[in-house]
Amino acid sequence: MALERTLSIIKPDAVAKNVIGPIYSRFEQGGLKIIAAKMVQLSRAEAEGFYAVHRERPFFNALVEFMISGPVMVQVLEGEGAVLKNRDLMGATNPKEAAAGTIRADFADSIDANAVHGSDSLENAAIEIAYFFPATAVYAGR
Ligand code: UDP
Repeated sequence: MALERTLSIIKPDAVAKNVIGPIYSRFEQGGLKIIAAKMVQLSRAEAEGFYAVHRERPFFNALVEFMISGPVMVQVLEGEGAVLKNRDLMGATNPKEAAAGTIRADFADSIDANAVHGSDSLENAAIEIAYFFPATAVYAGR
């Protein structure tokens, strides 16, 4: 497996629940290293841009409203097979279907307030990391 980087967002519901720490522990215990991080309040334009791939979906407006409803914690995770590893740690999109012990099973309330985002492919990870972090903001291995 290759060393990869992926983008993670702790969404407004989980930030409001005060569970950034426990979620970070899941990443670290899962072998992923947090190599860049920032808390941001997304503007509507930033949220729409980030989720542009979903703009034709029926839940798009609600998703954007939710993502701008409070601060989010954005991080770059690095590790062997980081993209899939993070998706495994997150669990299914709908927390009702998420496997026991996953972040969404333990911290998410519903399919729309589902605690975390994680890039779904290596290609999208590169795009999403560049969306939030200029290259100089990532300090892996230093
Ligand atoms: N979403 C939603 N309703 C749905 C499906 C998705 O609100 O019926 C939201 C949810 O927050 C999800 C995001 O849209 O995390 C992106 O959907 P995707 O299918 O890419 O799921 P993910 O990759 O986040 O598991």
